[in-house]
Amino acid sequence: MWQVESEVDLFNMAPAPAPPAAEGAFSVPRPFVDLARTVIRHRDPERFSLLYAFLCRLRDNPRAMEDAADPLLRRLELMARAVRRDMHKTRAFPQLCEPGEDEWKNMSETALMPDLIAGAQAWETQMVAASVAEMAGGNVTKRWESVCAEAAHCTRCDLYKHATQTVFGEGPLGASIVFVGEQPGDQEDLAGKPFVGPAGQLFDKALAEAGIDRKRTYVTNAVKHFKFVRRGKRRIHEKPNGGEIAACRSWIQQELALIRPELTVALGATAARSLFGKAVTISALRGKGHALADVGEAWVTVHPSFLLRVRDNKEEEYARFVEDLGHIGKRARALA
Ligand code: SF4
Repeated sequence: MWQVESEVDLFNMAPAPAPPAAEGAFSVPRPFVDLARTVIRHRDPERFSLLYAFLCRLRDNPRAMEDAADPLLRRLELMARAVRRDMHKTRAFPQLCEPGEDEWKNMSETALMPDLIAGAQAWETQMVAASVAEMAGGNVTKRWESVCAEAAHCTRCDLYKHATQTVFGEGPLGASIVFVGEQPGDQEDLAGKPFVGPAGQLFDKALAEAGIDRKRTYVTNAVKHFKFVRRGKRRIHEKPNGGEIAACRSWIQQELALIRPELTVALGATAARSLFGKAVTISALRGKGHALADVGEAWVTVHPSFLLRVRDNKEEEYARFVEDLGHIGKRARALA
């Protein structure tokens, strides 16, 4: 049972003595210490039990912090994020959050909450306005460069270990359409650019037939490192799993937050899973737009590599892909 000393004082109870140190100490990775230090400030009474449960997990598996799909780790990270967000807002509104000693005595939490909520809403409005102003001032480029540089050192999942480099998105940051593929292929991994291999060439051809100028769109991938298995000298593409897609999701989210496109197009199931946050069926979503928070209007179609692999009805599948792109181009023009 875990208690905070100030909460113990509140009920006039003597704090329990610290337990004797147990034998069999073990080390934990530094990121866990940082995570625990933040989570411990959360008001959720379960925070200690959750941290303790994860500590036990680390004792059995020292690499448990690397499993981005672990629901317990995910919950702890969400708690840490909430704490960081509140700390940020506290810094933005010191006059609301740090009243003098007398003011604290007179101020009940319920009296303070409307001010804090109003302050937080005003802060969010300011942030959106600042973001728009930064775009107008060209600072989006700097922010994109900084996110891109950060992603180049990403180690959130194991894929960085064997790939040549991170392949980030490319294209104009004012693009109205963002195309999201699955992951870089062999050639993209070597070139450091998305969609330059055979699937990329087919994609360019289909875009041209659909009347979309690729140079005016932004193209990127849901997963930024090439996942493959070696067969002799060849590196054979391997589909990223749910944990890898989830681990890489924050990069695509940051790209979309900076570009704020009218349309975001998922090419294939992996990209759709990343955008929708869950596994979806392409055939059920294809051919129309879907309102999605933070993404603009989401469209879904197949990945061009599917058209290279498919054996039956190759021409019909390609024509359908071009037709999808045609609808997307038309919709983008209508929104513009
Ligand atoms: S695939 Fe994504 S999450 Fe994994 S290491 Fe690369 S950039 Fe990071």
